[in-house]
Amino acid sequence: MKVNKSIACSVNECKYHAKNESYCSLDHINIVKHEARARNQEATDCGSFETE
Ligand code: SF4
Repeated sequence: MKVNKSIACSVNECKYHAKNESYCSLDHINIVKHEARARNQEATDCGSFETE
């Protein structure tokens, strides 16, 4: 599997996670907010996440 060393990620439940290494395998990801106005880290997420 490809490893994108520009995108570190610890969400190994995601189907795009590189598994053996703590990185994403996608070329790019979409970061989203799920509150009208993001005021802290918890308000942001990876919008490219998909379950395996
Ligand atoms: S798509 Fe997002 S959640 Fe999934 S491995 Fe890549 S960075 Fe992590």
